[in-house]
Amino acid sequence: MNTREQEQLKERWEAVSSDVADAARTAGRDPAELTLIVVTKFHSADLVRALASLGAAHFGENRHQEAETKAAATNDLDITWHFVGQLQSNKVRAVRRYASVVHSLDRPSALNAFTRASDDGTGATDCLIQVNLTDDLQRGGVSDSDLESFAEAALSSPGVRVRGVMGVAALGAEPRSEFARLRQASERLRALEPSATWISGGMSADFGDAVLEGATHLRIGTAITGNRPSHG
Ligand SMILES: *Cc1c(COP(=O)(O)O)cnc(C)c1O
Repeated sequence: MNTREQEQLKERWEAVSSDVADAARTAGRDPAELTLIVVTKFHSADLVRALASLGAAHFGENRHQEAETKAAATNDLDITWHFVGQLQSNKVRAVRRYASVVHSLDRPSALNAFTRASDDGTGATDCLIQVNLTDDLQRGGVSDSDLESFAEAALSSPGVRVRGVMGVAALGAEPRSEFARLRQASERLRALEPSATWISGGMSADFGDAVLEGATHLRIGTAITGNRPSHG
């Protein structure tokens, strides 16, 4: 990164950090309740390094191969990696090695994979149950009607520690009502497990609405990183 890129990154990081704090205060919440995760997909390890030097502590990636490489290239930094993308069961063992939190738990086969992977004594992984906020069953996430049964399976699964729920608002939908659905899913999960309080929702375009509906973890990419390099 050249000096100008670094200056622009610093400006965006500071602007978004202060917008997130403002959103918390608008919602009558303490900014310290919020975890800001910078989603760095398609960006270099150097950008992660630059953000860490500005004070960013949490980073997110959505594709295993890229995440693994970037985490290895920055393993001297004191940062926490979150895996936020679709999770294939055969990648679970490898994802656990660098990711402290997996946001995209949504299928029973992944539960089995976490159980097998935790056999080595490394213990359970912090996970969020991804819920499908739309009526489109093609999209990732547990459907509304399956939430309790999947949550019960996850809660009794030794390889995962269920910390809460995660959702992605659909493009073109009204974000506030999508995040209200996510909050309802959180309430249903907490009826089964009161300690599962995390709510991961809110991206560059809609984090204000997510904070109003109780999000605790924001996954923000382009508003901080700038546009993603085109990918070929
Ligand atoms: C890319 C991505 C984000 C960040 O999106 P932006 O619009 O760039 O803020 C958040 N969550 C997930 C699951 C993503 O894949």
